[in-house]
Amino acid sequence: MDDGITIALTKGRILKETLPLLATAGIQPLENIDRSRKLVFETSVPGVRLVILRGTDVPTYVRHGAADVGVVGKDVLLEHGAQGLYEPLDLGIARCRLMTAGPAHWQHTGGRVRVATKFVNIARDYFARRGMQVELIKLYGAMELAPLMDLADLIVDIVDTGNTLRANGMAPLDEIAQISSRLIVNKAAMRSHYRAIQSLVDQLAAVVGEGADADA
Ligand code: AMP
Repeated sequence: MDDGITIALTKGRILKETLPLLATAGIQPLENIDRSRKLVFETSVPGVRLVILRGTDVPTYVRHGAADVGVVGKDVLLEHGAQGLYEPLDLGIARCRLMTAGPAHWQHTGGRVRVATKFVNIARDYFARRGMQVELIKLYGAMELAPLMDLADLIVDIVDTGNTLRANGMAPLDEIAQISSRLIVNKAAMRSHYRAIQSLVDQLAAVVGEGADADA
Protein backbone atom coordinates (compact mmCIF):
# COMPACT_ATOMS: atom_id res chain seq x y z
CA MET A 1 0.00 0.00 0.00
CA ASP A 2 1.20 3.53 -0.80
CA ASP A 3 1.92 5.16 2.51
CA GLY A 4 2.50 8.63 1.09
CA ILE A 5 0.26 11.37 2.43
CA THR A 6 -0.83 14.80 1.25
CA ILE A 7 -1.11 17.54 3.86
CA ALA A 8 -3.26 20.61 3.07
CA LEU A 9 -2.00 23.75 4.79
CA THR A 10 -3.76 27.09 5.30
CA LYS A 11 -1.74 29.88 3.74
CA GLY A 12 -0.86 33.09 5.59
CA ARG A 13 -0.43 33.38 9.33
CA ILE A 14 -1.31 29.73 9.99
CA LEU A 15 1.23 28.49 7.41
CA LYS A 16 3.99 30.54 9.05
CA GLU A 17 3.28 28.90 12.38
CA THR A 18 2.71 25.39 10.94
CA LEU A 19 6.02 25.05 9.07
CA PRO A 20 8.18 25.11 12.23
CA LEU A 21 5.92 22.41 13.78
CA LEU A 22 6.26 20.21 10.70
CA ALA A 23 10.03 20.82 10.65
CA THR A 24 10.28 19.61 14.24
CA ALA A 25 8.41 16.49 13.10
CA GLY A 26 11.07 16.09 10.37
CA ILE A 27 8.92 17.34 7.45
CA GLN A 28 10.39 20.23 5.47
CA PRO A 29 9.39 21.50 2.03
CA LEU A 30 12.15 20.96 -0.53
CA GLU A 31 11.65 24.53 -1.80
CA ASN A 32 11.07 27.84 -0.09
CA ILE A 33 7.26 28.18 -0.13
CA ASP A 34 7.38 31.99 0.24
CA ARG A 35 9.54 32.40 -2.85
CA SER A 36 7.62 30.03 -5.09
CA ARG A 37 4.35 30.43 -6.97
CA LYS A 38 3.80 26.68 -6.81
CA LEU A 39 1.01 25.33 -4.63
CA VAL A 40 2.23 21.74 -4.25
CA PHE A 41 5.56 20.94 -2.58
CA GLU A 42 7.48 17.73 -2.10
CA THR A 43 9.12 17.42 1.30
CA SER A 44 12.18 15.95 2.98
CA VAL A 45 10.04 12.86 3.67
CA PRO A 46 9.56 10.90 0.43
CA GLY A 47 5.85 10.57 -0.36
CA VAL A 48 4.75 13.39 1.95
CA ARG A 49 3.45 16.37 -0.06
CA LEU A 50 2.20 19.77 1.06
CA VAL A 51 -0.54 21.74 -0.71
CA ILE A 52 -1.09 25.39 0.16
CA LEU A 53 -4.72 26.55 0.17
CA ARG A 54 -7.13 29.17 1.46
CA GLY A 55 -8.39 28.13 4.87
CA THR A 56 -11.97 27.62 3.74
CA ASP A 57 -10.80 25.18 1.06
CA VAL A 58 -8.74 22.99 3.42
CA PRO A 59 -11.69 21.01 4.92
CA THR A 60 -13.11 20.54 1.41
CA TYR A 61 -9.88 18.97 0.12
CA VAL A 62 -9.61 16.74 3.19
CA ARG A 63 -13.30 15.75 3.24
CA HIS A 64 -13.11 14.64 -0.40
CA GLY A 65 -9.81 12.82 0.13
CA ALA A 66 -7.85 15.06 -2.25
CA ALA A 67 -5.68 15.67 0.80
CA ASP A 68 -5.36 13.14 3.65
CA VAL A 69 -4.62 15.60 6.43
CA GLY A 70 -5.07 19.36 6.88
CA VAL A 71 -4.26 22.26 9.14
CA VAL A 72 -7.06 24.81 9.50
CA GLY A 73 -8.41 27.39 11.95
CA LYS A 74 -11.18 26.30 14.30
CA ASP A 75 -13.17 29.31 13.04
CA VAL A 76 -13.39 27.67 9.61
CA LEU A 77 -14.53 24.35 11.13
CA LEU A 78 -17.17 26.10 13.26
CA GLU A 79 -18.45 28.14 10.32
CA HIS A 80 -18.42 25.50 7.58
CA GLY A 81 -18.81 22.31 9.63
CA ALA A 82 -16.46 19.40 10.30
CA GLN A 83 -18.61 16.57 8.95
CA GLY A 84 -16.64 13.65 7.58
CA LEU A 85 -13.45 14.74 9.32
CA TYR A 86 -11.52 13.63 12.37
CA GLU A 87 -10.09 16.47 14.41
CA PRO A 88 -7.43 14.68 16.46
CA LEU A 89 -5.21 17.53 17.57
CA ASP A 90 -5.32 21.16 18.69
CA LEU A 91 -2.01 22.54 17.40
CA GLY A 92 -2.32 25.58 19.67
CA ILE A 93 -1.04 27.94 16.97
CA ALA A 94 -2.58 31.10 15.45
CA ARG A 95 -4.57 31.62 18.62
CA CYS A 96 -7.20 34.34 18.55
CA ARG A 97 -10.79 34.92 19.63
CA LEU A 98 -13.99 35.11 17.67
CA MET A 99 -15.90 38.06 19.09
CA THR A 100 -18.75 40.43 18.65
CA ALA A 101 -17.53 44.00 18.39
CA GLY A 102 -19.06 47.40 17.88
CA PRO A 103 -18.50 51.12 18.16
CA ALA A 104 -17.03 51.94 21.61
CA HIS A 105 -19.94 52.48 24.06
CA TRP A 106 -22.48 50.89 21.71
CA GLN A 107 -25.73 49.94 23.41
CA HIS A 108 -28.65 47.94 22.13
CA THR A 109 -31.56 50.37 22.05
CA GLY A 110 -34.06 47.81 20.77
CA GLY A 111 -35.11 46.76 17.33
CA ARG A 112 -33.32 44.65 14.81
CA VAL A 113 -29.54 44.84 14.97
CA ARG A 114 -27.53 44.78 11.76
CA VAL A 115 -24.50 42.47 12.03
CA ALA A 116 -21.78 42.34 9.38
CA THR A 117 -19.56 39.27 9.26
CA LYS A 118 -18.05 36.57 7.13
CA PHE A 119 -19.04 34.08 9.86
CA VAL A 120 -22.78 34.11 9.15
CA ASN A 121 -23.51 30.61 10.48
CA ILE A 122 -21.68 31.20 13.75
CA ALA A 123 -23.30 34.64 14.12
CA ARG A 124 -26.82 33.32 13.36
CA ASP A 125 -26.39 30.66 16.00
CA TYR A 126 -24.91 33.03 18.58
CA PHE A 127 -27.64 35.68 18.32
CA ALA A 128 -30.44 33.09 18.08
CA ARG A 129 -29.27 31.55 21.38
CA ARG A 130 -29.57 35.01 22.92
CA GLY A 131 -33.01 35.56 21.44
CA MET A 132 -31.76 38.63 19.57
CA GLN A 133 -33.30 39.60 16.25
CA VAL A 134 -30.51 40.38 13.82
CA GLU A 135 -30.09 41.12 10.16
CA LEU A 136 -26.94 39.35 8.98
CA ILE A 137 -24.88 41.06 6.30
CA LYS A 138 -22.31 38.79 4.66
CA LEU A 139 -18.93 40.39 3.98
CA TYR A 140 -15.68 38.85 2.73
CA GLY A 141 -13.21 41.17 4.47
CA ALA A 142 -12.63 44.44 6.36
CA MET A 143 -15.57 43.82 8.69
CA GLU A 144 -14.42 46.69 10.92
CA LEU A 145 -15.33 49.12 8.17
CA ALA A 146 -19.03 48.25 8.25
CA PRO A 147 -20.09 50.18 11.40
CA LEU A 148 -17.96 53.17 10.34
CA MET A 149 -19.85 53.35 7.05
CA ASP A 150 -23.19 52.67 8.75
CA LEU A 151 -23.61 49.41 6.89
CA ALA A 152 -24.00 47.57 10.22
CA ASP A 153 -24.35 48.16 13.97
CA LEU A 154 -22.09 45.30 15.07
CA ILE A 155 -19.59 42.89 13.59
CA VAL A 156 -18.53 39.33 14.36
CA ASP A 157 -14.82 38.98 13.65
CA ILE A 158 -11.53 37.49 14.71
CA VAL A 159 -9.69 39.51 17.33
CA ASP A 160 -6.07 39.01 18.28
CA THR A 161 -4.54 42.13 19.88
CA GLY A 162 -7.66 44.27 19.32
CA ASN A 163 -5.55 46.87 17.48
CA THR A 164 -7.62 46.66 14.30
CA LEU A 165 -10.81 47.33 16.25
CA ARG A 166 -9.31 50.23 18.23
CA ALA A 167 -7.86 51.81 15.09
CA ASN A 168 -11.41 51.95 13.74
CA GLY A 169 -13.09 53.35 16.86
CA MET A 170 -14.47 50.01 17.97
CA ALA A 171 -14.23 47.78 21.00
CA PRO A 172 -14.59 44.04 21.54
CA LEU A 173 -17.89 43.12 23.21
CA ASP A 174 -18.42 39.40 23.81
CA GLU A 175 -16.26 36.34 23.19
CA ILE A 176 -18.00 33.72 21.05
CA ALA A 177 -15.17 31.17 20.85
CA GLN A 178 -11.46 30.74 21.42
CA ILE A 179 -9.77 29.83 18.16
CA SER A 180 -6.59 27.95 17.31
CA SER A 181 -5.49 25.79 14.41
CA ARG A 182 -6.50 22.13 14.30
CA LEU A 183 -5.16 19.06 12.57
CA ILE A 184 -7.94 17.41 10.56
CA VAL A 185 -7.88 13.97 8.95
CA ASN A 186 -9.94 12.32 6.23
CA LYS A 187 -11.81 9.40 7.85
CA ALA A 188 -11.08 6.86 5.10
CA ALA A 189 -7.40 7.91 4.93
CA MET A 190 -7.11 7.37 8.69
CA ARG A 191 -7.75 3.67 7.98
CA SER A 192 -5.94 3.28 4.64
CA HIS A 193 -2.84 5.30 5.69
CA TYR A 194 -3.06 4.55 9.38
CA ARG A 195 0.66 4.19 10.09
CA ALA A 196 1.79 7.35 8.31
CA ILE A 197 -1.04 9.49 9.69
CA GLN A 198 -0.92 8.19 13.25
CA SER A 199 2.84 8.73 13.33
CA LEU A 200 2.35 12.32 12.10
CA VAL A 201 -0.35 12.91 14.75
CA ASP A 202 1.89 11.46 17.48
CA GLN A 203 4.91 13.49 16.42
CA LEU A 204 2.95 16.74 16.26
CA ALA A 205 1.24 15.96 19.58
CA ALA A 206 4.69 15.56 21.14
CA VAL A 207 5.82 18.90 19.65
CA VAL A 208 2.77 20.85 20.83
CA GLY A 209 2.65 18.98 24.12
CA GLU A 210 -0.92 17.68 23.77
CA GLY A 211 -2.56 14.34 24.13
CA ALA A 212 -4.28 13.58 20.81
CA ASP A 213 -8.07 13.12 21.14
CA ALA A 214 -9.55 10.14 19.40
CA ASP A 215 -12.26 12.00 17.56
CA ALA A 216 -13.30 15.39 19.01
P1 AMP B 1 -5.76 42.31 15.76
O1 AMP B 1 -5.70 43.72 15.21
O2 AMP B 1 -4.45 41.86 16.33
O3 AMP B 1 -6.90 42.15 16.75
O4 AMP B 1 -6.02 41.32 14.54
C1 AMP B 1 -7.27 41.30 13.96
C2 AMP B 1 -7.24 40.94 12.50
O5 AMP B 1 -6.18 40.05 12.18
C3 AMP B 1 -8.55 40.24 12.21
O6 AMP B 1 -9.33 41.08 11.42
C4 AMP B 1 -8.19 38.96 11.52
O7 AMP B 1 -8.58 39.03 10.18
C5 AMP B 1 -6.69 38.84 11.61
N1 AMP B 1 -6.28 37.74 12.49
C6 AMP B 1 -5.74 37.86 13.72
N2 AMP B 1 -5.42 36.67 14.24
C7 AMP B 1 -5.77 35.75 13.32
C8 AMP B 1 -5.68 34.33 13.25
N3 AMP B 1 -5.18 33.61 14.24
N4 AMP B 1 -6.16 33.73 12.16
C9 AMP B 1 -6.67 34.45 11.15
N5 AMP B 1 -6.77 35.79 11.14
C10 AMP B 1 -6.31 36.44 12.21
